[in-house]
This record gives sequence, C-alpha cells and structure tokens, in this order.
Amino acid sequence: MNRKRKSDTQSLFQDLAKDILAPPPDLTVSEWADAYRKLSSESSAEPGQWRTDRAPYQREILDSVLDPELEKIVVMASAQVGKTELILNTVGYHIDFDPAPMLLMQPTEALAKSFSKERLAPMIRDTPVLRKKVSDEKTRDGGNTTLQKTFPGGYVAMVGANAPSGLASRPIRILLADEVDRFPVSAGKEGDPLSLAEKRTNNFYNRKKIMVSTPTIKGASRIETEFESSTKEYWNLPCPSCGEYQPLTWHQIHFDKEELNIVEHACKHCGALHNEYEWKEGKGKWVATNSSGLYRGFHLNELVSPWRKWKEIVTDFLEAKKKGKESLKVWTNTSLGETWEEDGEQIESDVLHERLEKYTADVPDEVKILTAAVDTQDDRFEIEVVGWGEHRESWGIEYHVIHGNLNEPKIWQELDEYLTRTWSKEDGSHYGLACTCIDSGGHYTQEVYQFTKQREARRVYAIKGKGESNGEYVPLISSYSRVKPSKALLITIGVSDGKAKVMSNLQIDEPGPNYCHYPKDRGYNQKYFDGLTAERLETRYRQGVAYRVWKKVKDRNEPLDLRVYNTAALAILNPNLEHDYTIEKTKTTKRKRKRRVVSKGVN
Ligand SMILES: [Zn+2]
Repeated sequence: MNRKRKSDTQSLFQDLAKDILAPPPDLTVSEWADAYRKLSSESSAEPGQWRTDRAPYQREILDSVLDPELEKIVVMASAQVGKTELILNTVGYHIDFDPAPMLLMQPTEALAKSFSKERLAPMIRDTPVLRKKVSDEKTRDGGNTTLQKTFPGGYVAMVGANAPSGLASRPIRILLADEVDRFPVSAGKEGDPLSLAEKRTNNFYNRKKIMVSTPTIKGASRIETEFESSTKEYWNLPCPSCGEYQPLTWHQIHFDKEELNIVEHACKHCGALHNEYEWKEGKGKWVATNSSGLYRGFHLNELVSPWRKWKEIVTDFLEAKKKGKESLKVWTNTSLGETWEEDGEQIESDVLHERLEKYTADVPDEVKILTAAVDTQDDRFEIEVVGWGEHRESWGIEYHVIHGNLNEPKIWQELDEYLTRTWSKEDGSHYGLACTCIDSGGHYTQEVYQFTKQREARRVYAIKGKGESNGEYVPLISSYSRVKPSKALLITIGVSDGKAKVMSNLQIDEPGPNYCHYPKDRGYNQKYFDGLTAERLETRYRQGVAYRVWKKVKDRNEPLDLRVYNTAALAILNPNLEHDYTIEKTKTTKRKRKRRVVSKGVN
C-alpha cells in the first residue's frame, strides 16, 4: 500500500535500486509485476509500468500461480480482458524469480513465432530485470532462438500444438497453453497435443498447468470442458444501490437501440439500473460456484474489462446480429467469453427453393462485382457466377455446366470463353468476372495449373480445399504458394470455415447484409439446392476430445463447394463494397470522356 504513496524521488531511487539489488523474498506474481514489469508500446495502449490495479480481477489469477496446493489453473475469457498478460507475467516472474523449464503452447507454430516476436521479446527488451537475464537472440550466445529463450536456471520453449516435433520429450515444470480451443485434436499421429504436453510435467512435484482460451462451440470446447471441472469462479461486483455481489451478465444489460449512450446493468437483487462507471467502481471479488472443483477456474467477459466500453460491446452486438449467425457466434465467444450453442445446422433445400425471385436483367442493380468458381469433374466443369453488393449481400447469377472430355483442349477453350464473357445490367452496362477460383483437386491438377497460370493477370486462380479432419482451425484463405514446375499460384482454402460462413448466410431470411438471392431458372433448380444443403456439421470425438466436422448427408455437394469458392474469391479480392463506385465512375467519365469509352464494373 505504501508503494502507491511514495514520492517521485523515492520512486526514482527505488527504480534504480531494483536494478541493482536482488528482489526481496516472497513476492507474488502480481507484486513482481507491479514492481518490475514494463508494458511495451507495440502491444499496449498504455505502455510503461504494469499496474495490477488497472484491472483488479487479474490479481488473484496471477497469484494463484504460486499456490502450492494448486496444479492447474483455467481461464475461460473473452478477448480484451488482458489474458495474454497473465501468461506474460507468469513467464516474467519465473525468468526473474523462480527459474524453471517452461513450455508455452500456441495453436500453430506460426502463432508461436509471432507470440515470441510480438509479445515475449518486447517484454524482455523493456523489462530491465528480464533483459539482464535473457541474452540477445542476435548474439546467439545463450543458444536463444525465436522459439527458445534461455536464462540462468531455466528456459521458455514455444511450440505450435500442430507441430509434434516441438512436443518431443523434455521435462517441463510450467506449462502455459494459450487459445486451447484452437488446438488440433491430434498433433500428427501422436495424439492430443495438450495431453502430450501435460505428460512432460510429470517429473515435477511442483508442476503447474495454466490453460487460457476464448471458448468456441458448445460441446466441442476444450476450455469449457476444463472450466466445468474447476471451481468455476466469476468476478462479482457489488450493486451500487443495494450492495449485493453479482457477476455482470449480458442478459442484465439494458440499452435503447436508438440512444446507445445509455447502457445500464440491472441488479439481479433490487433491479436498480446503473451505468458501467458506477458498477466498475465497486470493489470486486472472485466467487466460486462449484464447491467440488478439482482446481481453480476463472471466467471473464468484456463487461468487466477496463479496456472495453459497454457501448462498444452493444454496438458490436447489433452489428453482429445484422450480419447473421456466424458473426453472432464470434461476438458471443469474444465479447462474452461464452461458448456458442449451434442449433440444427441443416437447412431444408425446399425453403431455399421457395426463395427464387425474378431478376429484371442478368445482373441486378445492387450488384457491384462478379466472381466465379469452377469445380473440375472428370467429364464436366460446374461453374457458378455470383454477384456481390453492399454488406456482402449476394445474388446468384448463373449455375452453368460444360460437359466434355477434359483430356481434350476443346472443353478448356469453352471454359475460357465462358470466363471471359460479360453479363449486363438493366441500364446496358456490362460486367466481367473480377476473380475466378478453379478447384485443382481431382484428376486434372496440372491442367488446371496450366490454365490458371496463363490467366492470373485476369485473377483466375487455382485453389485447393483444406479440410480440418483434425479439428484444427483453417481460415477461409489459408495460404498462398507457387507450385512447381508451372509456378502457378495456388491458394489454399479452409473449407470448414467457408462452409460455416455460407450456411450462416443461407439462414438469413430477409434481404440485407449477407443475404443470398437466387434467380428463377439459370441452373438454380431443386437439384442445385439439394447440393447446396448436402452437408451437416457433426460432433466427433478423438481420444475424448470433441471436434466438429462437416458430413455429407446427400450425394452431390458441388453447389456448396462452389459457393465456398466464390466466398473465397471475394475474400481474395477484398473489395470495399460499401464504396460507391458509380460516383467515381461518373467523375472519371467527365474527365476522360474523350479518351476512352467508359466500362462499368471492376474489370
Ligand atoms: Zn441491487
């Protein structure tokens, strides 16, 4: 307490003394951080000395790390509550004060590398007591690399849960697993990466396992499973009116859609409404709800965070609600720190078939750009052209099949002719394709590369779908690479992520953001809609770890794949669809009228 009241001179002296003297005995992790830890400017909006008081809920979580009775600590939390800092302070404490071998796991090796470079290295650089102990990577004297930092008495190794070699046998006293809900179900053929890492701690009687994550889907969330067996503690604040302690929950939040400046939380005991400043001013405490918990588990949402305004949370909620289920799921996970309960993912094809509308031209007026996707079968190409407007509202333009023998040039010429044609709007303006994705899976991979290589200038790209049979999260646009020997660009697509996006959009039943329109005829028949709804999300288990996979329930699924590839084509282009291109076009027209004929559309 005295530390807070010290004068500037005293503070300067103490800062100097800290670098010279050995740290006093019996510091807790939060006391260590309050005394020594510096926040770096590249990762913190408030660089400089760490203050646990900035978010008081952090103190007990940090200090539980040293509880000798406790082997495991679980933190299930939203984004923006400072959960990465919990990991960093624990690492810093152990480098400086209680050296130990540590393993820090991230979902992938790439994420482990960026964590090391963007978070760990700046902390070491800016915190003098750590800088002295961890030698510089560039000098390589202490055998330090991006993925391993050594210091007197220990090291911290960073690994990706997807990279089995990184989990090879080495003893670990402190295991820190970050974003465990993004961990694959199995690391290669070796099994669950988290269990593999936990086994590494067996030699230490004073081992610690710290697991931190934003949760994902109910029934397939590692962090929720861990939290359920814990003490299940919630950060409680006293009601400013009656003083009763309670956690801040979303369903107690009151707001007026029209007047977002007033966002209040109702007390669940007396009903009084108070704003966030009144609630957050209270002295909070952790309250356990599971007395038979085997270890400590903490839950945090953004409502208690000093770095998030309630108004921002409500604004994000209203936006997400407009955009559909996939956005609402992300909001639930990242703002509330809660799992998302998926209801029947299956959409009935009849419902979509009834949605058919009559367009007055090839391309409805609201469309701003066109993309295409091509599926390569042995005896045909299946092609879908999609128009995209503001807020990613989409219009199916045509579902077209070209039959023929893919070993002969003729069908490839026909494909080229189709992909270079234009579609017109009612005002007579013509639109070409802004981006085309061609599936290179199947039996004609080299032919697809040859075809796309020559047309990359027109943004015709070869793609390859990547599943996640492993439960590993693969983003819609996963990677870009050049294949040998043709040097064609190959874009890897996360199909599960894509399917989730498409299904979420199909469930929106009113025109607006993300809604999918379909025209009468033009290939959109019952067979098409059966194919579009041919897959369902199912929960599977591997060694007791739940994960979700898309499972075919009908034979033909090309229409779903093609809509995923079109969604990928739009993501590759990443256009600003809210920008009014027509206004700009008009200006160009005036200026350049004499020099060229105006062409509408992106190409
Ligand atoms: Zn009250």
